[in-house]
Formats: sequence, structure tokens, C-alpha cells
Amino acid sequence: MTNVNIMKDIPEKVIIPLKQHDGMACEPLVKKGDMVCEGQKIGECGAYNSASVHSSVSGEVISIEEVPHPNGNKVNSVIIQTSEGSECADLKPEVVSSSDLADLIKEAGIVEHYGCPTHMVLRPEGKKIDLVLINATSSEWIGGHYDTPSQYSLQMLDALKLLMKAAGASKGAIVLRNDDLESISAFDGLNYDGKSITVAPLIGKRKVSYYLKDMASDIVVVSQDHIYGKKILDLFTYNVTGRKVSFGCVPTDVGVAICGVKSAKALYDAVNSGKPYIETVVSVSGKVKNPQKILVKIGTPFKDVIEACGGYIGEPGKLIANGSITGVAQYTDEVPVSKTTTSIFVQSAGEVVRGESIYCTHCARCVDVCPVNLVPSRIAALSDQGRFDECRQMHIMNCVECGRCAAVCPSKIHVLQLIKYAKVSIEKAYEDFAPKDSSTNLKLGCGCGGGE
Ligand code: SF4
Ligand code: SF4
Repeated sequence: MTNVNIMKDIPEKVIIPLKQHDGMACEPLVKKGDMVCEGQKIGECGAYNSASVHSSVSGEVISIEEVPHPNGNKVNSVIIQTSEGSECADLKPEVVSSSDLADLIKEAGIVEHYGCPTHMVLRPEGKKIDLVLINATSSEWIGGHYDTPSQYSLQMLDALKLLMKAAGASKGAIVLRNDDLESISAFDGLNYDGKSITVAPLIGKRKVSYYLKDMASDIVVVSQDHIYGKKILDLFTYNVTGRKVSFGCVPTDVGVAICGVKSAKALYDAVNSGKPYIETVVSVSGKVKNPQKILVKIGTPFKDVIEACGGYIGEPGKLIANGSITGVAQYTDEVPVSKTTTSIFVQSAGEVVRGESIYCTHCARCVDVCPVNLVPSRIAALSDQGRFDECRQMHIMNCVECGRCAAVCPSKIHVLQLIKYAKVSIEKAYEDFAPKDSSTNLKLGCGCGGGE
């Protein structure tokens, strides 16, 4: 079982970023000196591409200011000194229609772990969703949220139905990983809605639609071998459904909405207990005394999370959020856990390879490995010079942040870091920016006719 511990000590202060998603930042609903309670909404934005933020603790607002965020930038945040207090989740879970449910998802601040607000995945403007997938392939069931594997499976099935309702979709599937035997056994043979669930393996041309038809059911549970990076959703979509997502498009362009286990669980909680999205599971590894998965309150500074894991082993050298290859190295351990924080990796000072970046030799290895046919070397150079508009013209927003370019670079250029930096800066400057039409670049041409 993959145990998840619960962080018992409430942090002395939490830092709640007013932007924890792709899209418009929230405006604060509180001011310095206000007392807030756990679950209270403290930031909102009327724009569709936003999600509300809530206080994860009770306490006093001591400041609202720009502070470092795990994405490497500074983000306007509400800083709360914790004190005794009660919960006051003010969500109204009485859900009647699918649009009510989508509104509740936005109001509860539910965001996918890669940053997209979940209501936008389920109800993308101008698109029709007919299939909802819960992607449970990137992690085993997060035991800390559930008492038993069967509780997990039942909640996920209920959550899938809610997601389908929010999307107005008639079909849905939970996708497990073949080697996650605990999850498979939790679902296999389960009685749900008067039917016995059988976990079906995706083999060859037998995709989800085959099993939906074969089992004469609206929902199925399937399993597959692959694990995909958090933004490689187009390949996931193809492998599970057989539907091709063209470059520059997203799964919703082919009628597929993909949600993660965390957002599915958050929706279940919002509907069943009126609880907004205020806590998340973070995997802490590397040079810490007790590496573990830990359930923490959103806004908890990294240093408190590491303390809860027994503290550093020796002198810390580098702290990386969200993966050692594709993640972002942090300047400080004062940055807060946000809705998109999935992991914290600590390297000791001795482990950090301090090879200096040298000049680009134009070897084009990064170009060869880029799965979306970008020219990472050129984009990184433009980002380094602050020429973000030219990065846009080079289709930077199509980057899926797989990290391959940085991994193969013999000159140790921080290609991915530079790309991420430019992407965040562009998003900040053009809040409603979407992938650029690629009419002048056949490689990136979008052929699906949907989306942008
Ligand atoms: S991280 Fe690098 S290799 Fe991967 S998609 Fe982005 S530019 Fe291409
Ligand atoms: S792999 Fe590195 S050195 Fe080679 S072209 Fe790309 S950025 Fe330049």
C-alpha cells in the first residue's frame, strides 16, 4: 500500500497564492488584519479561465504581497498567521444541473495538477465533451485520503459520474496502470450500480470504446502499461481512446476530458461535504530523513513540509518542485505548496552537479528529441534575452515540458527552465493567451479543426 501520512502540525503561517492555475489571477476578498476561517473563500475572479482560492487554515491575514511561487516567479499571495478557529466552508453543494456542477468546481477552486482549472477541462467553451477519463496512471491510489481500497474505488466511481455530469458526457472511464495491482484489485469485482466491475486491459486496438460497447456500460475501468508526463495528454488520449489529437490542439478538441485522481477526489469532497480544494498530497524525496507522501494544507511553506518529514539530511544543495527532470529549482524553501505542487525533491550540496552552462553549439540534439517539433535552443536563447514575444512566434506555448531538450543538451544549458520562465512571463502578460495558429509552420499545423 502506498501510505500517505497526514501533516499533523498546522504551519505557523500559510501563503496562499492568488493564482494557482493557468489563467487569470484572483482578486483578494480579504485585507490585512481580517480574521479568516478554514475553507473561507479569500480570492476570486469572474473570468471563466480562473478558479477561486480558499484559506486552508483559520487565522489572521498579516499581509497581501508578491512572494516567490514554486513556478519560479513572484505571485500576489495572501499570508495568514494561523490561530485556533473553526471550519467555515461555504460551498453550497446542492447541485441540480451540469452547469451548477461546473460552477461548483470553479467555486471550490478545483484545478488539475498541470494547472488547468477543472471546469475548463470539462466544459471548454465552444466544444462538446462525450467522454471523461480519470487518469490514475501516474500514481497509485492515494491511501491517506481513504480508509480502504474499496472506499477509494467507490469514491472514484462516484467522482467519475459527477465529472461526466459536469461535462454533459455520456461515457466515462477510469484508467489504471497495469502494475498498480492494489488499485486493480480495489476495482475488480466491485459491485457498482448493480453491475460487477471488471478491470479490462487496453491491448492493441481494444480501446475504451470497445469495452464500453462490450460491457454495455456507461463507465468502465481499464488498465494500461504507459505512464505519461503531466502535459503529454495527447498521447494518453490516443492510447486510451484511439482519437488523434493534432499538434496545437488538446484532448477536448476531440471530445475527451481528462481529469486526475486529485481533482476527482476534490470534486467528490466538494459535493459531499462542501469542502473546497485546500489540501493536497505531496511526494517528498531525496535528502530528507523520512521520505514520504504527505497530505498538507495548501499554502504550507516547503520548509515546514520538509520539517514534517524529519528535516534535511545534511546541508541542502538544491530543492526541486514537481520532478527532478522537468521540475523547477527553488531559490528558497519559503515557497508554498500550491494546487499544482506534486513533489519536492531535495539534493544535498555534494550531489548537485554544478557544471557551468556553456555556449550553444547548435548541435540540434534538443531539436531532434522535441516531441512537438519545437526549436528549444532558439526559444531558450530568446527567453534568456527576455524576447518573449518572439518566443510566442516560435510556438513556445506548444511545449509540453517533457524535459527531453534539457536532458540531452551537452552544453548543460537550462533549456527547460528558460522555456518555463518565458511561458509564465507570457501568460502573465497575455492572460488569455492560447496556442498560436501555425499556418506558416507545417510541422505544427493543426488539422483537427477544433480549438484555437
Ligand atoms: S521541454 Fe523541450 S523537448 Fe520537451 S516539448 Fe518543451 S521544448 Fe520540446
Ligand atoms: S542541445 Fe544544447 S547545445 Fe545542442 S542545440 Fe540544443 S541547446 Fe544548443
